[in-house]
Amino acid sequence: MTIMATNPRDLCNEQIVNELHASHMYLSMAAYFNHQGLRGCADFMLAQSEEEREHAMRFYNHLVDRDTRVEIGVVDETPNAWDSPRAAFEDALAHEEKVTGQIEKIYEAAESAGDRPLMNMLDWFVDEQVEEERTFRRILELFDLIEDDQAGILEIDERLSDLDHE
Ligand code: MG
Repeated sequence: MTIMATNPRDLCNEQIVNELHASHMYLSMAAYFNHQGLRGCADFMLAQSEEEREHAMRFYNHLVDRDTRVEIGVVDETPNAWDSPRAAFEDALAHEEKVTGQIEKIYEAAESAGDRPLMNMLDWFVDEQVEEERTFRRILELFDLIEDDQAGILEIDERLSDLDHE
């Protein structure tokens, strides 16, 4: 049985691409929401997309600071349409849960390599993932409350345009 190498630096390189993928996906969701006339949701996703690029840059900067060569891999294709606004947010939550798993995997690798600077850097991401998941769960709760009411969707759109991004 072969055990896959879990070099923390390689995982960080991969994570740059994972975060860029999330950035593309949220940009695609912004375009979808714009097309649906949901400007608040679109603005929310644009801000989200920017944040994901910043996440990628945190890994990039960490590797550069540690004198490690950065190599940018292929960013997977993103969907361009969803069946409903709710479906897009469900995808977003599923994606964040996946990212949480990726961060945990890097953390474990950093821990077993005794890489304290990386562990310290990842602490920020551990908190950030709790926040990201909470935000998307809350939005899905709002969709549960309105069921399929169109006026309710406009209300959510209004709320999201006011939602503060860090
Ligand atoms: Mg992220």
